[in-house]
Amino acid sequence: PVFEYAPAPESRAVVDIAPSYGLFIDGEFGEAGDGKVFKTLSPSSEEVLSEVAQAGAEDVDRAVKAARKAFMTWSALPGSERAKYLFRIARIIQERSRELAVLESLDNGKPIRESRDSDLPLVAAHFFYYAGWADKLAYATRGRSPLNGTSGTDPKPLGVAGQIIPWNFPLLMLAWKIAPALATGNTVVLKPAETTPLSALFFADICRQAGLPKGVVNIITGDGSTGAELVAHPGIDKVAFTGSTEVGKAIARTVAGTRKKVTLELGGKAANIVFDDAPIDQAVEGIIGGIFFNQGHVCCAGSRLLVQESVQDELLDALKRRMGTLRLGDPLDKNTDIGAINSAEQLARIRALADAGEAEGAERWAPACELPSSGYWFAPTLFTGVTQAHRIAREEIFGPVLSVLTFRTPEEAVAKANNTPYGLSAGIWTEKGSRILWMANKLRAGVVWSNTFNKFDPASPFGGYKESGYGREGGRHGLEAYLDV
Ligand code: NAD
Repeated sequence: PVFEYAPAPESRAVVDIAPSYGLFIDGEFGEAGDGKVFKTLSPSSEEVLSEVAQAGAEDVDRAVKAARKAFMTWSALPGSERAKYLFRIARIIQERSRELAVLESLDNGKPIRESRDSDLPLVAAHFFYYAGWADKLAYATRGRSPLNGTSGTDPKPLGVAGQIIPWNFPLLMLAWKIAPALATGNTVVLKPAETTPLSALFFADICRQAGLPKGVVNIITGDGSTGAELVAHPGIDKVAFTGSTEVGKAIARTVAGTRKKVTLELGGKAANIVFDDAPIDQAVEGIIGGIFFNQGHVCCAGSRLLVQESVQDELLDALKRRMGTLRLGDPLDKNTDIGAINSAEQLARIRALADAGEAEGAERWAPACELPSSGYWFAPTLFTGVTQAHRIAREEIFGPVLSVLTFRTPEEAVAKANNTPYGLSAGIWTEKGSRILWMANKLRAGVVWSNTFNKFDPASPFGGYKESGYGREGGRHGLEAYLDV
């Protein structure tokens, strides 16, 4: 099919984006000390959405000092009081969800159906969930009890958290970071990714609307150099980072030898494993969602399909038919399945890895797909005949590209699935419950889904083994990352 590019001007009007934004420090928006700015684009049209302040060392210092000052009063509030602010923020996010969903799709390029039905509901759910914990922290750490009589535990906040997030789920990654930090009594300096700064700045406005005390949340926009300044600042007690494994390692090196605590949520190369007894249609939907959701800009994307040899032909035929029905185009069109690639740099990376797949001998296939003339686009792509030595089987592509490998036995599936430096997630498709339990135990992955994929819940801890990082976000475990016991 040929896909139509149908702009949706009425959705665009839902959000009022200012021509420029400052940094949000100590409850006020203001310019960067040296007046530097950068532009943020809509990746689907290359339209400049706004100009945003680029924070330098002096701004980072001001933000950390504001957070330090606020920590004294914020951490002293009863948990039930902090909960009220978090509940208020959650409700405002719900009230403003249409505006925020459109904003997110404009700045990131993701389909509005995803930002509206996945990102925004999960963002609100995280604030609701952690609001519920704020007055129950004595129960937050495993196997402990509240102080009573002569013994017990008394969890304390760490202090100021420096938080750095990527561009793939800008508002959701912010919620994963800020909600548990505030619930536990920490204050925050957060840096969003340079290609998607806007929803964090709208969130700053929501903090003001909720009456959150000044300095509890500070948002500093900028690139990797701003992030590096934040990580190195002596006034922070904790670094929470989500992003690439390469930058995660650099951060771990920077904080080594300091008192700072660190959690890292890094890359992935998940195997989605389909056995011959799996319901094929259901598995095809899971594979499609696993790799093409959010254009494959997902750390836990099912980017390696491991299919049992005996059902390979049947499954690949069904998968190609389904891929042929995916609609690529305007992120604001409610019928769009695949939106824009987030940036020109990311598009170049995906192209380079896909070209390497071809050059190394894998077979490339994509449905007929007319790409819009402006913006950054990549057609949903399938590689068959992939071996474990190929770069597309080993490296994170972070795009809509699926590499297919085969296996004969469950043991071989486990060995291949684990043959990666990463260990974030995996999927198993089979009717056999015993096999699911056996596989889940053997797979070195922080999350294992069975007969589904990419399902998230604020009550479930999420995080990786091996080079996918350490620490967990979500659930009770997510609180431990912000507490000293
Ligand atoms: P990235 O590492 O390039 O950037 C992430 C953030 O770090 C950005 O805000 C960036 O400005 C900042 N940064 C860059 N250099 C820095 C430095 N030297 N010091 C401090 N901060 C620095 O990653 P990206 O391209 O934005 O995001 C994609 C990556 O994130 C993928 O590898 C993906 O798997 C990973 N990711 C992981 C999870 C998870 O939960 N495990 C979730 C989403 C994305």
